[in-house]
Amino acid sequence: MNILKEVSLKAYNTFGVDVYAEQFVHIEQEKDLIQLYEGGWLDRDKRLFLGGGSNMLFVRNYDGLIVHMAIKGITHRILEESIEVKAAGGEVWHDLVCYCVERGFGGIENLSLIPGTVGAAPVQNIGAYGVELQDFFLSCRAFELTTGTFKVFYKEDCQFGYRDSIFKGAQKGKYIITEVNLLLPKKSILNTTYGAINEELNNRGLTHPTIKDVSEVVSSIRQGKLPDPGTIGNAGSFFKNPVVSEDTFRTLVSDFVDIVYYPFGPNQYKLAAGWLIEQCGWKGKTVGNVGTWKNQALVLVNHGKATGLEIYEFSEAIIDSVKKRFGVCLEREVNVIDL
Ligand SMILES: Cc1cc2nc3c(=O)[nH]c(=O)nc-3n(C[C@H](O)[C@H](O)[C@H](O)COP(=O)(O)OP(=O)(O)OC[C@H]3O[C@@H](n4cnc5c(N)ncnc54)[C@H](O)[C@@H]3O)c2cc1C
Repeated sequence: MNILKEVSLKAYNTFGVDVYAEQFVHIEQEKDLIQLYEGGWLDRDKRLFLGGGSNMLFVRNYDGLIVHMAIKGITHRILEESIEVKAAGGEVWHDLVCYCVERGFGGIENLSLIPGTVGAAPVQNIGAYGVELQDFFLSCRAFELTTGTFKVFYKEDCQFGYRDSIFKGAQKGKYIITEVNLLLPKKSILNTTYGAINEELNNRGLTHPTIKDVSEVVSSIRQGKLPDPGTIGNAGSFFKNPVVSEDTFRTLVSDFVDIVYYPFGPNQYKLAAGWLIEQCGWKGKTVGNVGTWKNQALVLVNHGKATGLEIYEFSEAIIDSVKKRFGVCLEREVNVIDL
């Protein structure tokens, strides 16, 4: 294990922002973490876990230690009524989806093509097309920085919510996830309730779709809708869809009849942040090196040479205009490092 110095993070964040980390280390096996702990490296006030950097916005050079999760490996075991799949934190999330799809293990096919690593998936309880990680999450193994020991978090310990978990809340920055265990049903039921999936399955004439069909359809919808970070820097949805109370919702609906929303739990509604942003005239708009994606205003893009600060300031302007027009406060989904 090598502690590298002055490492460019350009290839380690999907916005492609060119900043440097003072120190950088790849974790390829669990014992690297013990070694870091015993060497006192984790005592630094400033240390940051990094997976694929697909949910990060670096606004300046990072004057601390970046701990890059790179442990690999996927295995499974067949139980009586379910299948337990174990994946190391540094595996690419989509590779885990493919592992399951190829073997006919259903459950996470709707989460196809979400960028990033397995270890980061529980942090924001990744979700797409009506499925969230928590639906199939059994447990994860995590290394506690202050004690140098490993702990298992079961689903009930993780406080999963919409793009949220204990790893973003009370335990933020305290544990690095080295392994995730999923529990998939042997007889899985396809979730094709999302309009776009149904429509695409029909277009392809797939009346009895398989797990693989759904995975392919989800991948193709995503490719059509979202910019490829390999070509144009972005971090997917930059903001969360805001959740509002029944009262706020009623007022908004009477003022803006075509507002896009989804019922969300008792007396709560989730508003489509993309719609709110679009109504403020931001869709496809570019200021300097930053813009919103032409097909989806929720996605901020780096047109080539944007700095993290430029992207951040652009996002502030969006938040301000949505607040002024709708009285709704947008919250960033992307982690801003290091304001
Ligand atoms: C084009 C595009 C589309 C996207 N679509 C979706 C989507 O549909 N649904 C969705 O939920 N997300 C989506 N995202 C966001 C992103 O893919 C997820 O948040 C993903 O889980 C981030 O993984 P990562 O490895 O890149 O994490 P990073 O960006 O490296 O890190 C994200 C956070 O997790 C922490 N972290 C990383 N690894 C670990 C670890 N092993 N242990 C503890 N903490 C860790 C980091 O410190 C940071 O706080 C999209 C992003 C892009 C670029």
